[in-house]
Amino acid sequence: MTTTLLPFRSLVVQDRCDRCGAQAYFRAVLIAGDLLFCAHHGREYSAKLSETAVLVEDHSAAINGKPSPAAY
Ligand SMILES: [Zn+2]
Repeated sequence: MTTTLLPFRSLVVQDRCDRCGAQAYFRAVLIAGDLLFCAHHGREYSAKLSETAVLVEDHSAAINGKPSPAAY
């Protein structure tokens, strides 16, 4: 049996915070699945997530960047 890791994809405007529905900038990869959070909730839960998540991706540096082509 082989295990294939899914390739990471960048977050797009359609990705929404699981807590409030704002655009997601954090992805927490947990054993049970992924959670998406906006910058506000990502920071709020980052301490807790760092204990439980396999991986936490912080895309919040993109907030003030140029909109991605996917945003149109
Ligand atoms: Zn949120």
